[in-house]
Amino acid sequence: MPEKFDKKYEACPVCRSAAIHHHHSDFRANDIYRCDGCGVQFMNPVYSDAYLTEYYAGYITPEYTQRTIDEQYEVCKQNFTVLQHYIPNKGEMLDFGLGNGTYALHARKLGWQVSGYDVDCATTEQLAKKMQMDIRCGDFDKLDWGDKKFDLIYAHHVVEHLKDPVARLKNFRTILNPGGYLYIGVPNISAWGSRLKFLLEKIGLKKGRVGRYYDSEHHIFYYNPASLGKLLENSGFEVVYRGNASKPKPYQNAITKFLRQNIKERLVPGVAFFVIARKIN
Ligand SMILES: [Zn+2]
Repeated sequence: MPEKFDKKYEACPVCRSAAIHHHHSDFRANDIYRCDGCGVQFMNPVYSDAYLTEYYAGYITPEYTQRTIDEQYEVCKQNFTVLQHYIPNKGEMLDFGLGNGTYALHARKLGWQVSGYDVDCATTEQLAKKMQMDIRCGDFDKLDWGDKKFDLIYAHHVVEHLKDPVARLKNFRTILNPGGYLYIGVPNISAWGSRLKFLLEKIGLKKGRVGRYYDSEHHIFYYNPASLGKLLENSGFEVVYRGNASKPKPYQNAITKFLRQNIKERLVPGVAFFVIARKIN
């Protein structure tokens, strides 16, 4: 059996500040730290590479229900409506962490030339055949894209899984065209529900499934719009849009949908958010 955890971080894995401190411990007995320098929260110690490789080999469930696919499709529609406002010309897109491929297929239907990447090679090989798409796998650092450069890298609920987000953003800069765009969607650790639960847990009023909102089974970094914005700005990107990205519910009735989109989504930090950032040259 491989070691489950790495050695503990002594400094922030994002901004290298030594001002990190223990913030919470969840019901899985994982410790969460927070950095005073950049505000990011992270698991410390973090899962080892060997543990994560084994975990992700079984990560993508082969059978998605129609309901899940419908929900993913709604997310796509929402996200690409905003994206296309910033990027009117559809060019080469990389779906980084493409999962079951719903987002990549949708983007292709909209006119993007889509390539994909995901970590597990057995899964991506099947998908590449099924979707007739250039889908890469394995160590992202070692991939050779040749002359191909992207106009958009789409990373939907992936960055919170990455052990070295700084290195990945560096890769992204290399393979993006000048002025190319990056979409990142992640859970929001400052969602009002999570903040409330955190407070109740700290004063001892909530005792069951403590810190469940960290999802530390597989999420290892915990962002909010400010900390992700800082990371992007320190990595050569300019944030051009940030907004709530709570899960759209295609089966919701029209009135509830209207209230959600026009009141709740605008006023309350939801469970997830997304940013669009542009590569600065
Ligand atoms: Zn930091």
